[in-house]
Amino acid sequence: MIRENYHTHTHFCDGKNSPEEMVLRAIEKGFNTLGFSGHGHTDIDESYCMSKENTKKYIGEIARLKEKYKDKILILCGIEQDIVSQDDISEFDYSIGSTHYILRNGKFYNVDGSREEFERLVNDVFFGSVDAFAKEYFENVSTVVEKTNCKIIGHFDLISKNFERFNIAESEAYLSYAEKAVERLVKHNVPFEINTGAMARGYRSNPYPSKNILKMIRKMGGKIIFNSDCHQADFLDYGFEKAEKIAKDAGFTERVILTDKGFEEISL
Ligand SMILES: [Zn+2]
Ligand SMILES: [Zn+2]
Repeated sequence: MIRENYHTHTHFCDGKNSPEEMVLRAIEKGFNTLGFSGHGHTDIDESYCMSKENTKKYIGEIARLKEKYKDKILILCGIEQDIVSQDDISEFDYSIGSTHYILRNGKFYNVDGSREEFERLVNDVFFGSVDAFAKEYFENVSTVVEKTNCKIIGHFDLISKNFERFNIAESEAYLSYAEKAVERLVKHNVPFEINTGAMARGYRSNPYPSKNILKMIRKMGGKIIFNSDCHQADFLDYGFEKAEKIAKDAGFTERVILTDKGFEEISL
């Protein structure tokens, strides 16, 4: 049973609850570890991330909670660092590297958008070709560890957020682009997260990455870590049971956890 989550947003960025509300709910749910991962500051879009000033307050508040609840739960202070951010993140316990944007012809495009944004992006920028979008997206993702020095790879196939709504299947070309990115990323020995956040928000019925991609990761010796990408306390462990089953079906026998001593692998 999964009783940890390292991908948690709060009202310091685009989450709905305070960190303390999240901690109390995690304790109620019997969690042993809760890692916070506020969105790191990016100049290109300040609507969803922490301002530089808020980042300092966030660090202070998580440190306060870490001490206050130390007998009940392990609290970690991480950050979700976007591939386009240059900020120093060495003071955090860990980082999740995420590709929320792609840069094309000098302009940034949001990959993590609504159904309408996705439609506009595919049609206006990639002339209606999801595969062309995927090629560019996965080329970017393949560099996320090099660029952010992250310790967890965030929602690897975020591009598929709206696939279900448009009935888009993963084509052979799509999977080949994903495979190239997996190949490059597994060399870093950084775990891929199995992320249930889009399930909780009604976009997907399965976690990221897709089953096809999970099998690829497994085949190439990649590791996995479970995260709910939680923006609301009710969803701290949303979809974990299903995610665990999917991981086992894809052939995984182990998962990575993060403790106060660092990353370790335990059986699934
Ligand atoms: Zn994200
Ligand atoms: Zn997130």
